[in-house]
Amino acid sequence: MAPLAARDEPRQGLWDLVLPRRTTSGEETIASFVRRRLGDEVSSLFAESVLAGIHSGDPDRLSIDATFPQLVAMERDQRSLILAARKARLSRGSSAPVSAFLSLARGMGSLVDALVAKLPAGTLRLRAPVRALSIVGKRWLVHTERGAESFDAVHLALPPRAAAPLLSQIAPDAARLLAAVRHVSSAVVLLGYHQRQLERTLDASGFVVPPGEDCELTASTWLSHKWPGRAPQDHVLLRGFLGGTRDPEAHTLPDDELIARAKKGFARTVGAHGEPVLSRVVRYPVASPQMELGHRARIERVARLVAELPAELHLAAAGFNGVGIPDTIRQAQSVWP
Ligand SMILES: Cc1cc2nc3c(=O)[nH]c(=O)nc-3n(C[C@H](O)[C@H](O)[C@H](O)COP(=O)(O)OP(=O)(O)OC[C@H]3O[C@@H](n4cnc5c(N)ncnc54)[C@H](O)[C@@H]3O)c2cc1C
Repeated sequence: MAPLAARDEPRQGLWDLVLPRRTTSGEETIASFVRRRLGDEVSSLFAESVLAGIHSGDPDRLSIDATFPQLVAMERDQRSLILAARKARLSRGSSAPVSAFLSLARGMGSLVDALVAKLPAGTLRLRAPVRALSIVGKRWLVHTERGAESFDAVHLALPPRAAAPLLSQIAPDAARLLAAVRHVSSAVVLLGYHQRQLERTLDASGFVVPPGEDCELTASTWLSHKWPGRAPQDHVLLRGFLGGTRDPEAHTLPDDELIARAKKGFARTVGAHGEPVLSRVVRYPVASPQMELGHRARIERVARLVAELPAELHLAAAGFNGVGIPDTIRQAQSVWP
């Protein structure tokens, strides 16, 4: 970490308190936005490990306007990010803080189960990947290995990279734009320990790892500390993230190697020692769409191109307007209110 600024030097992080708003227009990267408002040190720590880390991406490429429009709005409407954050905290009052991390009591799979339960019988086709789409008149033909079926509208709830090949025949320009959205890969290692195997008390939700540290994890969430029911009594469940733009090929490593890297990371950060009582590896190849500079203009252009098709088509999923589950739900609700 860089040495603290000498007493008579400006403290970069606090410039935000006096800096005027940005006067120029145009999209900006996460790194440029944070550096401009809060200085180099905050940029390298906060922009890279927290903001870009959420997207497993590169802060010098990701668009702040597409990824964190709320921060852009804070500067636009209230000038200083620090003052705006303080005002927001005060306005929440002293009532019990609601955690920023929400989940479902029975795990995220219960969301899918609930959605499936609402579908009319016979409408769900599992293990039937769509191979191609074609238009006949104003209707769609959806081609799978089981043959073609006709529908009056299609909603591709797929990330841009997966939607692109399905559009290559009917909307080639839109397909090219979507295929050019970069997607990165990551791996998640879940390790369970008995509480006594940890030297550190888990007193937070997890951690993020700034670049340059001797740790191959990019971040960790302490699942059993965040939510009840995630581990048996006296045990903890830790989730470690590896890969992203920092180590693009990490997900291709064998399980043993990924587990070894996670164990080393947890030994260093929370003092985990001995063999974990549980270990699981989940790989997410080409799974995180990157909303880089130009992303919003690209998606708007795609929307205009598909609106010209003679049959009704919707594109709304992670990687179009946002990447998280709330973004995905918001987009779906705007199509199907
Ligand atoms: C490591 C990781 C951690 C994450 N953590 C969080 C988090 O903590 N909070 C959060 O809000 N979000 C998180 N996300 C993002 C979250 O996973 C996405 O927002 C969410 O999965 C998007 O849902 P979706 O239905 O749009 O797309 P997906 O979940 O990608 O689902 C698309 C589905 O379409 C299927 N498919 C692909 N091609 C075809 C085809 N041709 N025919 C038929 N089916 C096809 C795929 O198999 C897949 O099942 C995380 C993502 C990753 C990778």
